[in-house]
Amino acid sequence: MESTNIAAQKEQVQSIWKKRPLIISGPCSAETEEQTVDTAIRLHKTGKVDVLRAGIWKPRTRPGSFEGIGTKGLPWLQAAKKATGLLTAVEVATPKQAEDALHFGVDILWVGARTTVNPFSVQDLADALRGVDVPVLIKNPINPDLELWMGAVERIDRAGIKDIGLIHRGFASYGNSEYRNAPMWHLAIEMKRRYPELLFINDPSHICGKRDNLLEVAQKAIDLDYDGLIIESHIDPDKAWSDAKQQVTPERLGELLDEIVWRKENVPTVDHAALEKYRQQINHLDDELLQILSQRMKVADKIGAYKKDNGLTILQTSRWNDILDKAIIKGEKQGLSKEFITKYFDAIHMESIAHQNKIMND
Ligand code: PEP
Ligand code: MN
Repeated sequence: MESTNIAAQKEQVQSIWKKRPLIISGPCSAETEEQTVDTAIRLHKTGKVDVLRAGIWKPRTRPGSFEGIGTKGLPWLQAAKKATGLLTAVEVATPKQAEDALHFGVDILWVGARTTVNPFSVQDLADALRGVDVPVLIKNPINPDLELWMGAVERIDRAGIKDIGLIHRGFASYGNSEYRNAPMWHLAIEMKRRYPELLFINDPSHICGKRDNLLEVAQKAIDLDYDGLIIESHIDPDKAWSDAKQQVTPERLGELLDEIVWRKENVPTVDHAALEKYRQQINHLDDELLQILSQRMKVADKIGAYKKDNGLTILQTSRWNDILDKAIIKGEKQGLSKEFITKYFDAIHMESIAHQNKIMND
């Protein structure tokens, strides 16, 4: 490539990297040149997609399934880019793959969930990328371990990569049937809190594993202020060579993106008077809750003193079960979930025991 072309490419990558929402889509795997280029053309037509993704090397759980087309698919991505102007992104897991992807002008690399789990592999990749100016997206590791995810970020960062992004693709959890990979939103939110400066993308396709609830997961991510989405699309999803159940056509992707309500954390032109009123109400209610909780603990102190005087134990399991059962029934009638009531009363119970303990041992 001529140096002016390289400069123009870098500029395009920089401007797309800053675009919000950043939308990445494309097939789980590049299968043929026609499929790759057609997907790109149809995605481009929606006017909503910034980057074409396509798996070239596929890490598969069991041998024998389609493991990716390999290096010969990289020129297809170049052709797709030439036809549409879309940037391209590929998963790389080894130094050789990274080298090949860069050789064929891939714009963005991503580290897959099965690679993030392995510090040796991430370090090999980081060493191969030292001194290269290419954005790298890092998927969360398969297992719910933020330290491992952070470790991968640190390794890539120390290799001098300036543009690092995170992809939340959910975590393996045994026996979970609703999702292919449980989102465990609290972990992703914690990661986002630890790295507020990094691009943060959600991958509804690998969280859901099926088409049904892509919209619901994507909406939740946008409501949580993610910077963008990566969603798999295919010209003929049911016939895809990998991840057929979770892919959608480019046109369906366009509709799905239209169905999302794009809320912003701050919309300066909108008057927030009504929201402000609700927030005041919430503040008053929270104050009342604190007062009531404090009163409740004062009664617990009295109970502690009584039990101490009469030689009774603090924990009286049957009494507590009774309180909890009644609270769940009453709470559910008032629109509070059993899960919430149980967590809330457990917390109250622990605090109450702590108060009684203090009184009894003073
Ligand atoms: C993919 O994006 O197709 C992929 C293999 O994802 P993950 O690494 O999240 O499993
Ligand atoms: Mn996939």
